[in-house]
Amino acid sequence: MLAQAALMREPHGHWSMETVTVAEPGPDEVRVRVLASGVCQTDMHARDGFFPMPCPAVYGHEGAGIVEKVGAGVTHVAPGDHVIMANPSCGACDDCRAGFETYCTNAARLKFSGLRADGRSVSFVCDGQPIHGSFFQQSSFAAVTLAMARSTIRVPHDAPLEVLAAIPCGVNAGAGAVLNVLEPKAGDSYVAFGIGTVGFAGMLAARLCGCEPIVAVDLFEDRLALARELGAHATVNAGDPDLVTKVRRLIGGRGARFCLEAAGSPQALRAAVEVLAPRGTACLVGSARPGAEVSLEMKTIQQGRIVRGCIQGESDVQRFLPRLIELFMSGKLPIDRLVRHYPHAAINEAAADMHAGRTIKAVLRMAH
Ligand SMILES: [Zn+2]
Ligand SMILES: [Zn+2]
Repeated sequence: MLAQAALMREPHGHWSMETVTVAEPGPDEVRVRVLASGVCQTDMHARDGFFPMPCPAVYGHEGAGIVEKVGAGVTHVAPGDHVIMANPSCGACDDCRAGFETYCTNAARLKFSGLRADGRSVSFVCDGQPIHGSFFQQSSFAAVTLAMARSTIRVPHDAPLEVLAAIPCGVNAGAGAVLNVLEPKAGDSYVAFGIGTVGFAGMLAARLCGCEPIVAVDLFEDRLALARELGAHATVNAGDPDLVTKVRRLIGGRGARFCLEAAGSPQALRAAVEVLAPRGTACLVGSARPGAEVSLEMKTIQQGRIVRGCIQGESDVQRFLPRLIELFMSGKLPIDRLVRHYPHAAINEAAADMHAGRTIKAVLRMAH
């Protein structure tokens, strides 16, 4: 099976469109014709060499498409089913069995080894050369790919795959952090630090929970305008020298009940802690690059303040992602407003637009 794939041949490089041969699915794998894939900050971290996955490589970890073929052991999806591909987990380690699959002991190997779950074989070959695929066990920047069955989720046929491609990582991470981890109640105050896809999804979930007031913080004025349109009661530019004072004034009382840090920035995390009320919680979901450190004034975490992180919204993806799709389809989670579509071959332009803040969520559309 031949397919077009966006290949990264060297770290910090540019993607090139090349033809790869896709392997047959193993017993616990699914071959998917990818119709759309989200582009995420983690793909940029991979391009820039922050993960152990060697080049040449095919990234992409928010695939949406149609099942073409399933392995012998696969029963929950069948050819013709529409699916999205979520973060992989082994299902067998202590964290997976405790219901916390986003902290899977084997996650790093499954996401970044470049090898299939068997730990030996690759998904793609190009000109006789093995290509590192299986990024998050899906490498959705290929128009046909192999995914781990366990993290492949069947979705309704009437749901638009080109919007659902925003869900597996970005929307899941933000909405999951709010709905699964922070669990705010109506009337709780909420501050979103960073409103890319993750921060926006968290803010939309906070609105769904009835949080009030909701304050959004970001460097980009057009994002702040969209945030006000979609539910933020007030916004502050992250570059404001009086950021903490202004946010505290907007929240009123003793400070914020909940903050979500989705910028992956030490300054934003510090500000998120400083605007909290006593017993408030600041949760880090931003994708911080390895080596990034934060400094906090120690007294800011007294008075019962909680600083915590979470990976991928602590979601049980087979249960939680269909719930997010239902919320989107019923108009309660307007994630389509965050998405801009690009042709598969325009992946470099999509990445540049995301980096410059021109696009919140880039979704590639694959031609077939
Ligand atoms: Zn596991
Ligand atoms: Zn991601």
